[in-house]
Amino acid sequence: MLGLMQDWPLLCQRIIDHAAINHGERPVITRSIEGPFHRTNYAELRARALRVAQQLDRDSIKLGDRVATLAWNTWRHLESWYGILGIGAIYHTVNPRLFPEQIVWIINHAEDRVMMTDLTFVPLLEKLADKLPTIERYIVFTDAAHMPKTSLRNAIAYEEWIVGADGDFAWKEFDENTAAGMCYTSGTTGNPKGVVYSHRSNVLHTMLSLQPDAIGLSSRDTVLPIVPMFHANSWGLAFSSPMTGAALVLPGAKLDGPSVYELLDEFKVTCTGAVPTVWLLLLQYLEKTGAKLPYLERVVIGGSACPRAMIKAFEEDYGVQVFHAWGMTEMSPLGTVGSMKPQLADLKGDALLDMKQKQGYTPFGVEMKITDDAGRGVPWDGKTFGRIKVRGFAVSKGYYKLDDRILDADGFFDTGDVGTMDRYGYMQITDRSKDVIKSGGEWISSIDLENLAVGYPKVAEAAVIGVAHPKWDERPLLIIVLKEGQSATKEEILGFLEGKIASWWMPDDVAFVASIPHTATGKILKTALREQFKDHVLPTAIAAE
Ligand code: AMP
Repeated sequence: MLGLMQDWPLLCQRIIDHAAINHGERPVITRSIEGPFHRTNYAELRARALRVAQQLDRDSIKLGDRVATLAWNTWRHLESWYGILGIGAIYHTVNPRLFPEQIVWIINHAEDRVMMTDLTFVPLLEKLADKLPTIERYIVFTDAAHMPKTSLRNAIAYEEWIVGADGDFAWKEFDENTAAGMCYTSGTTGNPKGVVYSHRSNVLHTMLSLQPDAIGLSSRDTVLPIVPMFHANSWGLAFSSPMTGAALVLPGAKLDGPSVYELLDEFKVTCTGAVPTVWLLLLQYLEKTGAKLPYLERVVIGGSACPRAMIKAFEEDYGVQVFHAWGMTEMSPLGTVGSMKPQLADLKGDALLDMKQKQGYTPFGVEMKITDDAGRGVPWDGKTFGRIKVRGFAVSKGYYKLDDRILDADGFFDTGDVGTMDRYGYMQITDRSKDVIKSGGEWISSIDLENLAVGYPKVAEAAVIGVAHPKWDERPLLIIVLKEGQSATKEEILGFLEGKIASWWMPDDVAFVASIPHTATGKILKTALREQFKDHVLPTAIAAE
């Protein structure tokens, strides 16, 4: 017997409908690319999204067509998403921090028909346009007054483009399993892989993320999504904020410490999310200026491991609760969030930091297992490492145009991450499986060492890679960027680690560098560091020979 409930397809445009009806006046404020702050609200945003949908329809963009966006978080980008979604076309967010060749590759692979972009990226696209034959038209997110002279094919200012559409248009109806969005993973090896979200998976993921122990927003929140819309759907915030009626503050192109602080303070932001590198800049700014964060209640940190010192600074110095989250593009992206279960509610000081440093537990909608190489589950003892595998309604089952099977027999996806699970169900990432350091058959977590090293007050950023060793196969090399104006010795840094780690985890050498390279999503680019230090000879290697 089947249930007798209505068939109400889970379509993303219903989110902006709901926001316009219930929270129409809630503000959406943007630091515009042109400079000044721009204010709109959910009712206006929906009205303009309808005009985008109508104009795309007139331009013969149809169900299943891909529309690329190469853009910062702004109101125009957001309303375009809903306009694209509302006719069953697919928003394809392109990460501008990728190498130009990768940008060309993924646009061609996705066969995007239209490119919507910011003024910032017009010069880049002009250089690449010859290699982008599928793009029929470039729409620049600006008005006629700011539109530059450009050689881009059929280029038009966005405001000019929608001027002819009056918004007297209805969203199209289609199946909830229709593709909604695409995002390519920034693989460090091989070609990027296209993740394809559906309307259903996006709507369900939004509800998953809104569980109170996940990112639980309310209509009383003001949310600053610093994590870009091109980085795994800005962790769902572009959907979850309108679904709850939380006000939005969109940062545009400026993500430096003073600019982020200005937004947090001026607009009384209560909840924000970004990768650790962004928070590093903000915390340095706060330290330098003595500024405080009186309005901010919660900060979601993910994308790479959040250093303990960062959690401590937010929580103890600024009174802001940290939610350490883990996920990936293939998971829409949320996988775990570190909110405290009642058994842990009384933890304080170091014990609390120990738990907060873990990546947290799965919300409803994600199932996780941790296995050894043979696929057997490892004990949930908080010590035994294994491969992290997941399944759920917002987890990929394949990549665009690739036939490879990516699920195991039970339907689990191997994330490529290695971690432990404790008895409370809190997962902690040890490493990416390819970054873990294999020393004499045992594993050393590069993340653990990095997190400890950035706890030293003179250290701004730290990375650890494995370097070849004649006796142990690999040994850890600690690479350090010092804070401005600081100097330190190898002995001093290693002395700080002493007693905090098992002696055989101690890095064999320390290298000081001016900067550490990052990937397009703000992670330490270990492949580049391994290349840079491939001829590095560890002092212990000489001794062993
Ligand atoms: P992306 O698809 O670009 O979001 O990258 C996903 C990968 O980032 C994951 O598979 C992890 O390796 C890493 N990652 C994400 N969040 C965390 C976290 N909180 N701690 C450690 N690594 C993380």
